[in-house]
Amino acid sequence: MFESARFKLTGWYLLIIMLISIAFSVAIYGVLSNELTRVERVQRLRRERLLPLGLQPNIFRQPVIDPELINESKNRLRSILILINLGILATSGILGYFLAGRTLKPIKKMVDEQSRFITDASHELRTPLTSLKSEIEVNLRDKNLNLPNAKKLLMSNLEEVNNLQYLSDNLIKLAQYQKNNGNIFEEVDLLEILEEAVKKVINLAKNKKIIVKNNIRNIKLLGDKQSLIELFVILLDNAIKYSPQGKNVIVTSEKIDGYILIKVKDQGVGISKEDIAHIFDRFYRSDKSRTKEGISGYGLGLSIAKQIIDEHKGLIKVESEINKGSIFSIQLPVKY
Ligand code: ADP
Repeated sequence: MFESARFKLTGWYLLIIMLISIAFSVAIYGVLSNELTRVERVQRLRRERLLPLGLQPNIFRQPVIDPELINESKNRLRSILILINLGILATSGILGYFLAGRTLKPIKKMVDEQSRFITDASHELRTPLTSLKSEIEVNLRDKNLNLPNAKKLLMSNLEEVNNLQYLSDNLIKLAQYQKNNGNIFEEVDLLEILEEAVKKVINLAKNKKIIVKNNIRNIKLLGDKQSLIELFVILLDNAIKYSPQGKNVIVTSEKIDGYILIKVKDQGVGISKEDIAHIFDRFYRSDKSRTKEGISGYGLGLSIAKQIIDEHKGLIKVESEINKGSIFSIQLPVKY
């Protein structure tokens, strides 16, 4: 598909260039051949008019322009113009093919990305749907299914439905942030954002007896409030999820040269060097997180976080040590 689109685009480039080039060549040929004919005619007329009167004897000293020579010049001019046009055709064909490739490259990347996204999303949706289906089928076949067991089944189904809802919510969020529109950028208060984010994860922290220390300074920045709250909920949620009971999560901030540096530190399981290279990829989860019971997720949080940071023209960095903890550092411009 990409190759045929590239050939088509090259064809269009060539058509435009050749139309312009041929139009110019025809015009140049017309003007020059008219001029040659005019010179030859003027000279012939002068001779014919002046000769009988004997007025200009020096006219004999002027060279006579041979009409054959004029025709030959016109033919040469035509051949030169055809050669030039063939040269333009070949050069613009090669250049056009190269430029068409460059023009289509980002579109190809986007299309590839989208089809990968659809494949990944359907793959992730299939797993809970299959387990939901088989669970229902097995229980329907069970002739002795009683009320307590049916309730148990419904509870388990509900859990799967919740997972599916969480996944579809996150897929929608990711698509929205990728579209990069509809966000309102205004002056926002960092401390307020952090307080809102902490409120959303406090129950999770309490369940694991984790203390979230909010050491954020009251700094103002330009941004979309809801997206920034979402960003910190993702980071805090991960910090709590991937920490053992009773540890601390600390959030700090400092202002450096027009930037705000925010650090979310945890004392959790840490991330290996190999995983750090991939954690911002969609649907990526380290093997540890996949196998660990009770740690839910689909590997979408950090890719959403990255989209939000990109939208705010910021940067995110991770430092981590296995079984010691991780530090997610976010750099956001104060104004841009
Ligand atoms: P999810 O948490 O839903 O799996 P994320 O995109 O938020 O997805 O994170 C991707 C992966 O990065 C996680 O599966 C986990 O392996 C790792 N990770 C993220 N944050 C932390 C953290 N604070 N401590 C340890 N591992 C983390």
